[in-house]
Amino acid sequence: MTTTAALPTAHAACFQRNAQGVASHRCEVVEHRWVNDRYRYLRLSASADLAGTTRPGQFYQLKCPPSQDLHPFLLRPMSVYGTGPEAGTIEFLYNVTGVGTRALASLQAGSHMDIVGPLGNTFALDPGARRILMVARGVGLATMAPLVQHAARLGVHVSAVMSARAPKDLMRDEFLRGVDADVHCVYDSDGSSSVEAMEALVRRLLEEARHDAVYTCGSHRILMLLQRVLQDHPHTRGEVAMEQRMACGMGVCLSCVRLFDREGDKQFLRVCREGPVFPIRDVVGEVEFG
Ligand SMILES: Cc1cc2nc3c(=O)[nH]c(=O)nc-3n(C[C@H](O)[C@H](O)[C@H](O)COP(=O)(O)OP(=O)(O)OC[C@H]3O[C@@H](n4cnc5c(N)ncnc54)[C@H](O)[C@@H]3O)c2cc1C
Repeated sequence: MTTTAALPTAHAACFQRNAQGVASHRCEVVEHRWVNDRYRYLRLSASADLAGTTRPGQFYQLKCPPSQDLHPFLLRPMSVYGTGPEAGTIEFLYNVTGVGTRALASLQAGSHMDIVGPLGNTFALDPGARRILMVARGVGLATMAPLVQHAARLGVHVSAVMSARAPKDLMRDEFLRGVDADVHCVYDSDGSSSVEAMEALVRRLLEEARHDAVYTCGSHRILMLLQRVLQDHPHTRGEVAMEQRMACGMGVCLSCVRLFDREGDKQFLRVCREGPVFPIRDVVGEVEFG
């Protein structure tokens, strides 16, 4: 990526832009705190222009700061969790798992960090949609949370199935952020999140009321379950935001390609560039070689 030197502005954020329009933005960390014992909330100050053009489903590549013992080399992809409450804000919600996110977790409010984006495509919500279903597990809720807000602003009814290890891991308030939705919570701890139980629940919800679209992110098991269920609901669209491991995040390195089947036409597509949002029906779950 070719960039020019960053120019500090009166605001916290400044940016670098290359010929393709991919930009690296220097942002100020405004708020950074634990949400529970695994997830952190990060709020950055960006230009109002940047925040205002970031759409649900898109992501940024975050430069995690090196420390004495942590040296993350590649940037780490993170979905945009929100662009509010005030103008010029970009929010992330992330799971502290490895070198990059542990390094990220050390950033203090008042410090600065670089983010590249916004990258990727967005969730689609048809103009006439009246009711949608979201099935979320784990950090997938961070990716779908902006869609909850978008749907609510358009007056679209939201049903949600939220899956977690146990009630303390659910993050229901972080997902809904004040939106009134019809929520069904399922847990590993009581067996209600098993594939069989969730499939029965999703089938019941889709049979009880017509849903215009189903969205998911965060679990391959749930993705495959929805692909099966949607075979019986041909008029309901399905979209998944894929969380594939990726390096460059802008379509050059091809490390994040996945196989898709578009009406019989098998294609390898880049999750970072053609995605991360894809039709659920197009995802090829298992690849057979030989
Ligand atoms: C488009 C996109 C959006 C994402 N949005 C979010 C988000 O909003 N919040 C969030 O917490 N995470 C999100 N992720 C996953 C996040 O990028 C990884 O958790 C992060 O890169 C791990 O970095 P690490 O150095 O801490 O961990 P590593 O040391 O690299 O790995 C730690 C663990 O995380 C797994 N992991 C690493 N990279 C990925 C990846 N790309 N996808 C899935 N698992 C991975 C590894 O298999 C390992 O188990 C997103 C991923 C993608 C591709």
